[in-house]
Amino acid sequence: MNQNLMDFGIGEEKLREECGVFGIYDFEGNDVASTIYYGLFALQHRGQESCGIAVSDTDGPKGKVSVHKGMGLCNEVFTPEVLEQLHGNIGVGHVRYSTAGSSTRENAQPLVLNYVKGTLGLAHNGNLVNAPKLRHELEYTGAIFQTTIDSEVIAYHIARARVQVPTVEEAVAAAMKKLEGAYSLVIMSPRKLIGARDPFGFKPLCIGKRDKAYILASETCALETIGAEFVRDVEPGEIVTITKDGIASNREMCLKDPLKEARCIFEYIYFARPDSVFDGVSVYHARIQAGRFLAMDSPVEADLVVGVPESGNAAALGYAMESGISYGTAFVKNSYVGRTFIKPKQSSRESAVRIKLNVLKEAVDGKRVIMIDDSIVRGTTSALIVGMLRDAGAREVHVRISAPPFLHPCYFGTDIPTEDQLIAHGRTVEEIRQIIGADSLSFLGQDRLAAMAGGRPICAACFDGKYPIEPPSEDIRGAYEK
Ligand code: SF4
Repeated sequence: MNQNLMDFGIGEEKLREECGVFGIYDFEGNDVASTIYYGLFALQHRGQESCGIAVSDTDGPKGKVSVHKGMGLCNEVFTPEVLEQLHGNIGVGHVRYSTAGSSTRENAQPLVLNYVKGTLGLAHNGNLVNAPKLRHELEYTGAIFQTTIDSEVIAYHIARARVQVPTVEEAVAAAMKKLEGAYSLVIMSPRKLIGARDPFGFKPLCIGKRDKAYILASETCALETIGAEFVRDVEPGEIVTITKDGIASNREMCLKDPLKEARCIFEYIYFARPDSVFDGVSVYHARIQAGRFLAMDSPVEADLVVGVPESGNAAALGYAMESGISYGTAFVKNSYVGRTFIKPKQSSRESAVRIKLNVLKEAVDGKRVIMIDDSIVRGTTSALIVGMLRDAGAREVHVRISAPPFLHPCYFGTDIPTEDQLIAHGRTVEEIRQIIGADSLSFLGQDRLAAMAGGRPICAACFDGKYPIEPPSEDIRGAYEK
């Protein structure tokens, strides 16, 4: 990303999800491009660097796919004129932020692949841990890659397997046997829409229905937006094949021991929209619960509980409900800061954080404030926000974080930086408190995470270092560009 542009989070240190995926098959033959556009719009928080839509007509010629993708937000890349050109009743869409593979138009998705059996459109969320190995294997057998993203490795494996097996869903199953890491996939073949989730279930994927159309989406909020009803989640390891005959399911890749599944807990803490529900657990309730746990485990006397918008708000409400301390609004966020906003120069008096966030002096002046945020990565933004509260007259600022301290990088699709850049790495909580200038500081206990996800098995490796899959021996993120 251009260093002069600001990302969507409050500060420069907010973490970013890699991608959001969306797919739809309308059995009545209606064009689906505009529905995909609105679905992607609801998933925009999962990626703001590039987006794309690929559609095809299930009754038309097999190799004909219309695709449009580009750098920017959905409403920058797609105009009414562009959408009108995209005809077809089956399609897939994607929003992307790069954690592996650089931010270029070539790396935008969906990927469309023409091969001997027809055409595949593929959109992927997650990172593979064995992508460099799989890519080298393919390159040695003559494959030429056009992108630097893992998703092309997946598409190649599916296309190669398809030559050996009778159906595309069997090709997906064959490819999945080679893939290690996190992936939620939506795949469009000329006559089928396929969804697949890796056996650990790192990334979410759900199924919806609207009239005579089936939908696959990263989050349920996208179903709500397009007026579809939630059918169910795709299970970790499951492949669903949607045709005019309905939904067929293949669970041969599901783990024998479901307790080894590993849903990304950070989806609940930060990434997902609060109006989404994953695997039966509401993101909003998970955040409220985290706030309640913080109030039980790290109480402090204060006058006001406030959340750092957006994802700190629900946890702040939970803290207030549990502690009985008033909940209030201390921050006003400027919602118009987009991807192409010009970031102030280091020398400039304007601060990126202050441009995005102002403190309501009237709310905090003279008060003892508990400030809830979802994470501390490098610590710079937290220090600034604590300072802003003090400047606005807060008498005390107690910081509570609705996640444990980040201690380890993520290899599954989140841009958690290397250990040396994490403020918590090698520091005590007291040392972090001093750096950010708070009166007190507490993090959510690691023992509280499983309850946030309704007791389902989770990945919490960035907090506890227990990787569900052996991590690569070196940081492979962006390996193809090195
Ligand atoms: S390491 Fe952290 S961010 Fe990555 S998948 Fe696991 S819980 Fe999610």
